[in-house]
Amino acid sequence: MEFAFHGSPRDRVMASFEGRLTTALKEAGHRLSEPVPGVGLVFSHVDSERVRPFRRHAQATYIVALLRLPDPPEDFLQAAYPWMIRSLGNLLIAVVGPEAESETYFMTLERGYYRIAPSTDPDAHMQEVVRRLTPLATSHLIIDNIFEPDLERELWQGDEHTEELGRAGKLLDAWNLLPAPFPMQEILSEEDFRHVQRLYQIGGLSYGNLSQRRDALRYWMSASGVNKARLKEVGHEVLLVKDFDGGSRAMRLSVPPEIKPRRVSVDAIEHFMIYREHPQVGAIIHVHAWMEGIPSTDINYPCGTIELATAVAERVRRAPDPSRAVIGLRNHGMTITGRSLDDIMERVDGKILPQVPMS
Ligand SMILES: [Zn+2]
Repeated sequence: MEFAFHGSPRDRVMASFEGRLTTALKEAGHRLSEPVPGVGLVFSHVDSERVRPFRRHAQATYIVALLRLPDPPEDFLQAAYPWMIRSLGNLLIAVVGPEAESETYFMTLERGYYRIAPSTDPDAHMQEVVRRLTPLATSHLIIDNIFEPDLERELWQGDEHTEELGRAGKLLDAWNLLPAPFPMQEILSEEDFRHVQRLYQIGGLSYGNLSQRRDALRYWMSASGVNKARLKEVGHEVLLVKDFDGGSRAMRLSVPPEIKPRRVSVDAIEHFMIYREHPQVGAIIHVHAWMEGIPSTDINYPCGTIELATAVAERVRRAPDPSRAVIGLRNHGMTITGRSLDDIMERVDGKILPQVPMS
C-alpha cells in the first residue's frame, strides 16, 4: 500500500513519531508517497488550525488524523473525537503525554478507543501501532447503494415487519441505547460537510441499527443516519434490502417509485451475510453497548466493511444457536440475532451494559 503525510508535525515528539511510523510501515512493505489523489493511506496532522483537512477523492483513501496532546485530557473521547471529524478522518491516532512517557491512543469513528502502552523500546511500540492499524486501513467499505423502484405497491406503506421495527426502535430509545446522532454539521465547515455528504452520502453520524426479515431473500433495515426511535416511512427511514451485488460491491434495494430514497445503514452487508446463511434468523439488532460473557471479534474493523461483516458472520456461525446469538464487536458494540425483534428484545431486557469494554 502507498501511504503519505499531509500537514506538518506540531512538535518534536510528533516529528519523531512520524519518522518511526514511516520506518515501521516501510519495513512492513508499504511505500511512502505524496498526498495525491489515489493514495491508499493518508496521515493528516490536525494540530494546527491552519492546516486544511486532506480531502480524499475516493472512498478508498483511508485517512488517519494524527493528533498531539501534550497533556492527557480528562475525557479523551470528548477531547479527541471532534478532531477526527474536523480532519474528515476514518481513524484518529493521538500521541499523548510528555516526550519521555508518551502513549499512543487509537480512536475509531464508532467511538471506540484504546491505548498502546508506552514501551522502553520505541520501535517495538511503533510495530504494535502498525499491527493494529494495518487491518483497519486495508479493509473495504460496502457503502454503495443501488436503488430499484420495483417495490410492490402493497409494501409502499410498510407491513407488519416495519411496524415491529418501529416498536423495537422506540424500545431501544427508551433503554437509552440510541445516542443522539453526532452533530457533524456543527463541527465541520459548510464546505467540508457537503464534501462528506457527497462522498458518503450521509446526513450525519448515528450509532446502532436494526433489521427484520421480510421473506427468504429480503429484509427491512433502518436507514443511515436516521432517528431509530421513529422508523416508519418506507424508502426514507426503513429500506427493503433485496441483494448484494458482488461485482459493483453495492447493496441492492427495492424502493417505491418517484421518491428520493435515503441510503440503508452501512451495516447492511453484515446483516445480509447473516440472513443468507441462516434462514432461521428473523431479526438483527446492532447497538453500541455490551453484555456479560459474550464472545467477541478480535479486530475492530470499521462499520460497513466486508471484513467486519465476515468476522461477525463467522462468530454467529460458531454460536450454539446462530438464530439466537449475541456477538461482541471489539471496541465497538454488539450484534444480536433472533427469531424476531420481539424475541431479541425479550432476551436482552435488563442484561445490557451501556459501557463497551475497550482493549
Ligand atoms: Zn456500530
